[in-house]
Amino acid sequence: MTKPRILLIYTGGTIGMVKDYETNALKAFNFEQLLDRVPELIQLHCTIDTYSFKEPIDSSNMNTAYYVTIAEVIESKYSEFDGFLVLTGSDTMAYTSSAISFMLENLAKPVIFTGSQLPIGHLRTDAKENLITSIEIACATKDDKPVISEVCLYFEYKLYRANRTTKVNAEQFEAFASLNYPPLAESGVHLHFNYELLLKPVTKNSTLIVRKTLDNNIVVLKLFPGITEEVIKSIINIKNLKGIVLETYGSGNAPTYPWFINLLEKAIKSGIQIVNVTQCVGGSVILGHYETSVALKRIQVIDGKDITTESAVAKLMYLLGEKISNTEFKKVFEKPLRGELDF
Ligand code: ASP
Repeated sequence: MTKPRILLIYTGGTIGMVKDYETNALKAFNFEQLLDRVPELIQLHCTIDTYSFKEPIDSSNMNTAYYVTIAEVIESKYSEFDGFLVLTGSDTMAYTSSAISFMLENLAKPVIFTGSQLPIGHLRTDAKENLITSIEIACATKDDKPVISEVCLYFEYKLYRANRTTKVNAEQFEAFASLNYPPLAESGVHLHFNYELLLKPVTKNSTLIVRKTLDNNIVVLKLFPGITEEVIKSIINIKNLKGIVLETYGSGNAPTYPWFINLLEKAIKSGIQIVNVTQCVGGSVILGHYETSVALKRIQVIDGKDITTESAVAKLMYLLGEKISNTEFKKVFEKPLRGELDF
């Protein structure tokens, strides 16, 4: 039996750092020498190749150009490898992995994002478990087909659908949560896949399409009690603004002040797409459930349902880049494309 081939794409972040004992500072290590750092990898039944950003980045510096680089590496190596691991810093991993999930259409192989809270060279590191189990997941097959054929995020014993995740903790090893969709797999004594939750594999002859045009003329607008008319006005007047992810309260509620609704309506009429997502980490927008969301429904705000802010940002960039017509946009956004929201 041939061994599965896994490509490890290192973009930066804590996972790839080691302590320089002379200076006491954390620095990125050369990923070509991964086996020296994690000799346990030899025991896995697979071959591993690595690709590293020339200058690894802290994920705070992640942007849409880097998204394209990651997608292009996967595209150019797609036929050569059976699975892909993308190692990034955890801070923006939910954004990046959500974006990659939209960029890779007809994906038939596993793409697993992972990282760690402590560097791989640290004595108590969480990096080794995250890395080793992610590789095992990427190698897993059933009836000769990969178990996973979607973009996932693995952290602290749980595999999630990437576009359902949010970073919720900067201290604990359990850094991510996916409150609106259960884990796709859990790692204990055994690796347990929740098969019924996985995205269905794409039809046999469909080929991978990589969507690379992202439009980042968007903004995330988080409501708070006391927000002023001037603030909303200046945001909707930003030059070239094409979309707003509007973080509302609870199940999609917002102030009913006429100036607020009128400004949003004016923005929508001028072609700005406004997506209603909840500020809560779990639960869903339910437009019209409270009086405070009736007007939003009337002015045709897009219903983000139970999508995360990270995923809404990614989907908005992706769909704006696809130049979907104004009349179709709302309908397309409200449908799940990669399992990112409930229908
Ligand atoms: N600041 C780091 C980053 O996101 C944290 C991490 O790697 O988890 O790049």
